[in-house]
Amino acid sequence: MEEKKETLNFIEQIITNDLETGKHKQIITRFPPEPNGYLHIGHAKSICLNFGLKETFNGKTNLRFDDTNPSKEEVEYVNSIIDDVHWLGFEYDNLFYASDYFQQIYEWAVMLIREGKAYVDEQTPEQISEQRTNPTVPGIESPFRNRSVEENLRIFQEMKDGKHDEGSMVLRAKVDMNSPNMHMRDPIMYRIIKKHHDRTGDKWCIYPMYDYAHGQSDYIEGITHSICTLEFEVHRPLYEWFLDQIDTTGKRPRQIEFARLNVSYTVMSKRKLLELVTNKYVSGWDDPRMPTISGLRRRGYTPESIRNFAERIGVAKRENMIDVGLLEFFIREDLNKRANRVMAVLDPLKVVITNYPDGQTEQLDSGNNPEDETAGTRKVNFSKEIFIEREDFMEDAPAKFFRLKPGGEVRLRNAYFVKCNEVIKDKNGNITELHCTYDPDSKGGQSPDGRKVKGTIHWVDSKTCIDAEVRLYDRLFTKENPDDLAENETYLDYLNPDSLKTITAKVEKSLESVNPGDKFQFERKGYFCVDKNSAPGKLVFNRTVTLKDSWSKIATN
Ligand code: ATP
Ligand code: MG
Repeated sequence: MEEKKETLNFIEQIITNDLETGKHKQIITRFPPEPNGYLHIGHAKSICLNFGLKETFNGKTNLRFDDTNPSKEEVEYVNSIIDDVHWLGFEYDNLFYASDYFQQIYEWAVMLIREGKAYVDEQTPEQISEQRTNPTVPGIESPFRNRSVEENLRIFQEMKDGKHDEGSMVLRAKVDMNSPNMHMRDPIMYRIIKKHHDRTGDKWCIYPMYDYAHGQSDYIEGITHSICTLEFEVHRPLYEWFLDQIDTTGKRPRQIEFARLNVSYTVMSKRKLLELVTNKYVSGWDDPRMPTISGLRRRGYTPESIRNFAERIGVAKRENMIDVGLLEFFIREDLNKRANRVMAVLDPLKVVITNYPDGQTEQLDSGNNPEDETAGTRKVNFSKEIFIEREDFMEDAPAKFFRLKPGGEVRLRNAYFVKCNEVIKDKNGNITELHCTYDPDSKGGQSPDGRKVKGTIHWVDSKTCIDAEVRLYDRLFTKENPDDLAENETYLDYLNPDSLKTITAKVEKSLESVNPGDKFQFERKGYFCVDKNSAPGKLVFNRTVTLKDSWSKIATN
């Protein structure tokens, strides 16, 4: 995907305009994850977007942890997020935490109280929510709405000092209880959470809400374009209202919304992903079936493939569902260029080459990657007994079956033509091995006399091949949109019971000393990646994706 983009997307247009009119000299974006889980492919889109704008416009991008709720956040998540951003190939200009601004954000809240624009409400969350009524009906004012500034200051101080219980009261902004926008009906600014915070320790027991803290943090950092997903569009008037209260410079961030990424056959909310992990439906956040960046990485995805995917889907203003096949297209495209070809037999059937000399082993030259000359060649062992894929033989084969069949001839990849003469079965009639003869003059798979064989199959040498655990993955969910549910359903009803199948395959000897993360094409079978559980003598591969590709047309259109 090297071609230059001719048209700017709507965000790039806004920025171009802001730079041309001199509104900003340099742009600053931010990626603001809450460290309450691992990042997923949706976050990757947001990362590519924000850091992509920095690259395009020679700006800056901050990584800011939105660590305003210590009851859900953990250092493990912070570290994984930093790793993921780097792995995707991006460098942030600053690493910040919303908690760095707690004091300033608090002082602004006190200022709002002084100005009669915020009050402590001692009602229950249910009462508060009921009084907001609905957009077509005026809201009902809280009985605490008009308490005095002095009283508000005193009680807010007590809240801060830990004198009140969690849930007993909140600080609310006094905005407009009759606004048709429910977010403007006296939103909550602070709640009490009595939990140790990883960065601020026990200094605070009141924590600002997202809507209040986010824009103020953007302002403090001098963010010029604050890009978020569409569901925040209705929060924008509130974002502006909070900025109106503090902005003395006129240089304030502009919130711009774009459509979040949804990918078929998976879920993308951190709450649900956490549930999959804690209830052990998957092996962890980096389970290769997970849509997390760490899961995709372990599965064998490359940063380039994810960046190309993000570039291809672009930024839209309306929500849509992206077929997971498009993501698979981009990893195939990338691995086709960079993954060396090797041979592995996933479901082995023994073949004895009866006219091959006993005890002889040949080392046949095999190209590593037809797409990359610099990838070189390797030697592949060949001897009297080999394994082929069980499905590559058929006893009662139809005419169009061009693989191995009784009396038929087939090419063994990089080796010889072989012909099947005899099918050996056990007493139950199961095929246990095939007896074949080879044509010594067809070495390298070249026809000795112009005679043609239609099929080429892969194989491994039985004496030197290695057993390897291979994990074959399928979609984690059986439903295209597991979030689209009938009333009595949960997304868990659609977990695919067959999303992981573990087999023992036979792989060629050259794979003896591979390392976790190494990527290969198993010829005719797909792309595979060495798992982190793999060790010498106990190889483990993950299937990244099969070779079948029904998306190339759509993706390159
Ligand atoms: P989730 O709903 O999955 O828990 P979130 O929005 O709560 O995600 P944050 O940590 O707040 O997660 O997200 C950080 C940034 O990533 C935000 O700017 C958010 O808009 C963006 N983001 C989250 N999910 C997606 C998505 N599916 N597509 C694009 N951007 C996303
Ligand atoms: Mg969020």
